[in-house]
Amino acid sequence: MTLTIRGLTKTYPNGVQALKNLNLSIGSNMFGLLGPNGAGKSTLMRTIATLQSADAGEVWLDRLDVLKEKDAVRRILGYLPQEFGVYPKMTALDMLDHLAVMKGILNRGERKDAVEGLLQRVNLWEWRKKKLGSYSGGMKQRFGIAQALLGNPKLIIVDEPTAGLDPTERNRFLNLLSSIGSDVIVILSTHIVEDVSELCSQMAIISDGGVVLEGAPQVAIEQLRNRMWRKSLANSQELAELQNNSHVVSTHLVGGVTYARVYAESCPGEGFSPVDPDVEDVYFLTLSRHQRN
Ligand code: ADP
Repeated sequence: MTLTIRGLTKTYPNGVQALKNLNLSIGSNMFGLLGPNGAGKSTLMRTIATLQSADAGEVWLDRLDVLKEKDAVRRILGYLPQEFGVYPKMTALDMLDHLAVMKGILNRGERKDAVEGLLQRVNLWEWRKKKLGSYSGGMKQRFGIAQALLGNPKLIIVDEPTAGLDPTERNRFLNLLSSIGSDVIVILSTHIVEDVSELCSQMAIISDGGVVLEGAPQVAIEQLRNRMWRKSLANSQELAELQNNSHVVSTHLVGGVTYARVYAESCPGEGFSPVDPDVEDVYFLTLSRHQRN
């Protein structure tokens, strides 16, 4: 299965051009969509999820015209939006049952099996009779995935799912996502680079409404091998000088010491040591190159 996006363009009534002739091809498995806030990720996700229209362009899921055949898309779609509202006074069991009816699972026995199976799968079985208002952030997100998985969707979209989760909750959530299965397209939209590096075999970086990098994270990382260098900095003046004279990709504070990561074809100077490149280097370097052009 392949999701093909061609020339997608969207301008909001206030004049903001959120998508600018965006092209992207997404195959089965986990696909990471990275980009800074305001890049257009949610607009893209909502358009694919048939919740808003585009001004121009096409989206195809194999031979299904996503922008036109909305009902057919909704039958095979699972969507976890950025803001997932629940009724705080309802229990997880009742809410999921209600959502299953909305999704068209009308047979009582079939619905019971689906709802109970999903609550077990997302590890909420023990808390199924608790009110959703008492759930932690991580539990709410796991409930969000349970509702997105109702009806065995073929296309699953999750928008910024780990923002605000503590490390344990985030781990649980990512493990759950990675267990979904390989015959399904899962699009994970996020501004958290590690989410993508840990889970996704393919990714795209979007910035300013367009795709600025597309491919396998590992391939993009390998292209930076032997070109990333690190140095500890004594003060902010040293950082300012470095920024003037070389390509500083990022700075990190480790144990009270500031380190700069620099991109250079060969050792940029005294005090630098070579470091293994990572997805964060790919991300920051790609964005800075895009902004320079
Ligand atoms: P991201 O999800 O990457 O943060 P969004 O798709 O939410 O990006 O936003 C892209 C741009 O469109 C931003 O400049 C944002 O302010 C703007 N935008 C998003 N939704 C609306 C809307 N409903 N009306 C007007 N502008 C919007």
